[in-house]
Amino acid sequence: MLRVELEAWREILSHACRSYPDEACGALLGLREQEERRVYEAVALSNVWPGSKRNRYRVDPLELLRAERHARQRGWDVLGIYHSHPDAAPYFSRTDLEQACPWYCYLVVSVRDGAFAAARCWQPNDELTSVIEQAICLPFGDEQEETCQEY
Ligand SMILES: [Zn+2]
Repeated sequence: MLRVELEAWREILSHACRSYPDEACGALLGLREQEERRVYEAVALSNVWPGSKRNRYRVDPLELLRAERHARQRGWDVLGIYHSHPDAAPYFSRTDLEQACPWYCYLVVSVRDGAFAAARCWQPNDELTSVIEQAICLPFGDEQEETCQEY
């Protein structure tokens, strides 16, 4: 289970919507508590994919290192990576899997016409050959259909 706290979720939505129609990406910072990963802070990272960013992303490795340091200073870890899928479903694509790290979970946020549509969380296996979907708990429950501007 991935549980995203309110401030972190607001940052993810805001980042995903303002980056539209490009893909946004960032780090999920927080704590593992038994079976649950609790995200306290989301840190926006630059999408440094050299081509069109409309359906690809690559996190800036230096910014990710800084996010790791920031997390450790708070006694947290980088639990995973979020990225957006502009006008596409929040599935985990083959290219997503190719660049994944097995120690992270991956939150994919679908943004349609600049507004939040859906989110799903994926956990790659150690061999990076497949993913298992993880349950997510978002702070807005059944209000997820609302547009980002309203948050
Ligand atoms: Zn993707």
